[in-house]
Amino acid sequence: MTYTRLVESLGEASPALVQAARTIGSPQIRNAGTMGGNLGTCSPAGDTLPVLAALDATVVLRSAAGERRVPFSAFMFGPRKSERKPGEVVQAIEWDDAGHSQVFLKAGTRNAMVIAVANLAMVVDRDRRRVRVALGSVGPTIIRATAAEDLATGLFEESGWDRPLRVEEAASARFGELTAAAARPIDDQRGTARYRRHIVAVMARRALARTGAAA
Ligand SMILES: Cc1cc2nc3c(=O)[nH]c(=O)nc-3n(C[C@H](O)[C@H](O)[C@H](O)COP(=O)(O)OP(=O)(O)OC[C@H]3O[C@@H](n4cnc5c(N)ncnc54)[C@H](O)[C@@H]3O)c2cc1C
Repeated sequence: MTYTRLVESLGEASPALVQAARTIGSPQIRNAGTMGGNLGTCSPAGDTLPVLAALDATVVLRSAAGERRVPFSAFMFGPRKSERKPGEVVQAIEWDDAGHSQVFLKAGTRNAMVIAVANLAMVVDRDRRRVRVALGSVGPTIIRATAAEDLATGLFEESGWDRPLRVEEAASARFGELTAAAARPIDDQRGTARYRRHIVAVMARRALARTGAAA
C-alpha cells in the first residue's frame, strides 16, 4: 500500500492518516514508499506511526507459519525494534473508523521532504467517547500522552461528544503542557529537546482546537 494509493483510496476517511501520508517525502517517494515499509523501518520519526497509535490500529503479520494480529501499542518498542519476527511481513493494518475529529501535525526544518523534528496525531472518536494523542520523533518509540488524553476526555464529556468543543485558554494551555510532559526528547541535529517540547505543546493545542471544532 503506497502512500499515493492510501491517499487515493481513503479519500475523506481517516483524515489523520491521509494528512500523515501527504507529508511523506515527495510525490516520487509517496509513489514508491509503503505503509509496510514505514512499519518495517519502525523509525520513531515514521509519520504514519503516531496515527496508527492514535487509531488503536492492529498490525496483521503473516509468515509461512500463519497469521497473527498485534496491537500497534505492543508492536513497536524502540528505534527499528518491533515485535515482528524474522520471516514475518506486514500484510495489513486494521483500525475502526473513528470519524472525522482527527488530525496529524508535523514540525520540520522546512515544509517538505523533511524528517519530523516532532509529529503528533490526535483522534477524538466521538462515538466511542475516546481520545488518543500520540507523539513521534520525541522519544525512542511512539509515545501516548495519556494524562493529556484524560484531560481532553473530561473536556469533551463536559461539553458533549456530539458538539463542537469550545476550549478555554487555561484548559488549552494545560493540555499543551501535559502533552509536552509526555515527550522524552533528545538534542540532535534536527532540534533540541527544549524546542521539541515547545513545539509539541503548540501542536497539541492546535490539535485540540481542530479536533474540537470538527464535530
Ligand atoms: C527521500 C526520502 C524521504 C523520506 N521521507 C519520509 C517522510 O517524510 N516520512 C516518513 O515517515 N518516511 C520517510 N522516508 C522513509 C521511507 O520512505 C518510508 O519509511 C517508507 O515507508 C519506506 O517504504 P518502502 O516500501 O520503500 O520500504 P523499504 O525501504 O523497501 O523497506 C524498509 C524496511 O521495511 C521492510 N519492509 C518493507 N515492506 C515491508 C512489509 N510489508 N512487511 C515487513 N517489512 C517490510 C524492509 O525489509 C526494510 O527493512 C523517506 C525516505 C526517503 C528516501
